[in-house]
Amino acid sequence: MRKLNTRNFRLATRSTPREVNRQIVLNLIREHQPISRADLARRMKVPRAALTTIVRELLESGAVYDSGAATAVRGRRPRLLAIRTSGRFVIAADVRQGNTSLVLADFGGQIVARKSIRTPDSPAKLLDEMVTQVSRTLREHRASDGETVQGVGIVVPGMVDRHSGRVLYAPRLGWRDVDLQEPLSARLGLPVSIESAPIACALARLWAMKGDSRAVNNFAYVSVSDGVGVAVVVRGEVLRGEDHTAGEIGHVSLDPNGPQCACGKRGCWEAFCCNAATVARYAGALGTRSAARGATTVEEIVRRALRGEAAAVKAITQTGQQIGRGLAAVVSAFNPKRIYVGGEITAAWDMIERPMRIELEHGTLTEAARNTPIHPDANPAEYRLLGAVALVSSPAFEMPRIG
Ligand SMILES: [Zn+2]
Repeated sequence: MRKLNTRNFRLATRSTPREVNRQIVLNLIREHQPISRADLARRMKVPRAALTTIVRELLESGAVYDSGAATAVRGRRPRLLAIRTSGRFVIAADVRQGNTSLVLADFGGQIVARKSIRTPDSPAKLLDEMVTQVSRTLREHRASDGETVQGVGIVVPGMVDRHSGRVLYAPRLGWRDVDLQEPLSARLGLPVSIESAPIACALARLWAMKGDSRAVNNFAYVSVSDGVGVAVVVRGEVLRGEDHTAGEIGHVSLDPNGPQCACGKRGCWEAFCCNAATVARYAGALGTRSAARGATTVEEIVRRALRGEAAAVKAITQTGQQIGRGLAAVVSAFNPKRIYVGGEITAAWDMIERPMRIELEHGTLTEAARNTPIHPDANPAEYRLLGAVALVSSPAFEMPRIG
């Protein structure tokens, strides 16, 4: 049983059991959709009639819809329930060093509009620019009847205080103690949620509406991109630590004499396998020819590697090896059921998987640890934006907190 924190809890009220049951039904629908009422009742081990009111409320609130009739061999065909993702919209933003992407997407992650801006050099300018761009997007895509924009989700490459939404430190942006959430919410009149990119991606997996991750509660999400970030989910909850900085394994030094990291230290895991490290390795292998060939992004190196260019293949596989070294540390520290890896480089999964696994095997101590499954995020180009969508869509599925 989880220990109650008596200094920080909301009293359970008379309505709590009902709210809990409602969330159980909602999550069973999420995990097994489309699902019939009879099947729901079977899974909850209650008579079907016990679910009538809850299902009616979920249908009336618009969280769930009747997705049609199942096929049945004989007799009446049961109606099926599913989570409603269309008509409920989110503005999602991915703030990166260089560029910020903004999209309007539905709860299922379907993107209907997209903008890209240069990330301004100060948080205050970014705030102004976000207000302008979000307002313009909302004007251009005026919601029709029954459609609503339910909030703004923003992911940043850094640590975020979950309670206040303040960005504590984002080395790649050079930000310390920045508040975007409150002022943006006030100016847009919409709820705003801000989160570190890997944690947002973990939430997207935790509350997935389809795919094999929808019922996994112990996992690590590793984002390998401009930087390297890790989110650890234990028993269905993101591990945040005392001061919101848990999981910063990207900045654990693997070699005190290693390459310089964006955080100022040397030899951090990030400095060995972030996108810039892959680009530098590739440029080094090509020598002076590199400038002429203009490969400045990991996406381009992946394309060249997939065409069979030897220097590109070498740079990518070496990055795979470096990712594996850190994954061994993640497995030793947290023993997750599985690891998801997100990032542009995962488009070359067939090339990085083997060197990654070999390093994982070298760096771990038991057979089970060595065999920890590693999965690529299915959408390397958009994974952070889908994480930002989850910041707005996933709280609807959480259990009421009583401690
Ligand atoms: Zn570092």
